[in-house]
Amino acid sequence: MSEALALDRAFAHRDPLARMALLRRSLVGRIVFTTSFGIEDQYLTHLIAQNGLDIEIATLDTGRLFPETYKVWAQTEQRYGRRIKAFYPQAEHLQRLVEAQGIDGFYESVDARKRCCEARKIEPLKRALAGADAWIAGLRADQSDHRGGGAFVTRDETFGLLKASPLFDWSRADVAAAVAAAGAPINELHDAGFPSIGCAPCTRAVAPGDDERAGRWWWESSEKECGLHIGADGRLARVKG
Ligand code: SF4
Repeated sequence: MSEALALDRAFAHRDPLARMALLRRSLVGRIVFTTSFGIEDQYLTHLIAQNGLDIEIATLDTGRLFPETYKVWAQTEQRYGRRIKAFYPQAEHLQRLVEAQGIDGFYESVDARKRCCEARKIEPLKRALAGADAWIAGLRADQSDHRGGGAFVTRDETFGLLKASPLFDWSRADVAAAVAAAGAPINELHDAGFPSIGCAPCTRAVAPGDDERAGRWWWESSEKECGLHIGADGRLARVKG
């Protein structure tokens, strides 16, 4: 049995803290948790920080985030007394991108949008994960049909490491209750109808009952993913072997 499959099975009967602790015990190298300061990520940050898990916390500052996201970022550092390592786009990549397609060129086509996500998110993520053994993300299966196709632990072939989702089987209500009980800071936009919060120009509030990710790239009929969680085949990384 592969390491990913063994961990995937072992995760099933544990809570999120025990899942991350098991992952930490099972691997020698670095583990990186990437946060976008959404409610799921805030709970995982709380668990990592409060329990002193040897897991790095990193974020991707695209330069286009909401002011509310920077606010909760600062509140989180203050609450837990630790710096969250930020990865920024390469200046020369942004220079070429904006010269070629304009500051808001991502509205013009899916390709233009993906070029922006590549420069502002994917390339910085590669640097954040470079040399790590595992990547922790705050994905939940019921966020979208696309994400429901994943697993607790997979082998992410795009980045060449294990990818773990400790909240994969949790509902949004589960997460909200846990965050409230923990007293972790939350992004004010969640109370304004934003279940999923990404870059400001590419995220809007959703109507009650809408898919949680319906407000992301709302002008597209795409898979509602920026590429961070999509494998080379265009699907969520789900290789367990
Ligand atoms: S979400 Fe929008 S602004 Fe952010 S990197 Fe992607 S296209 Fe660019």
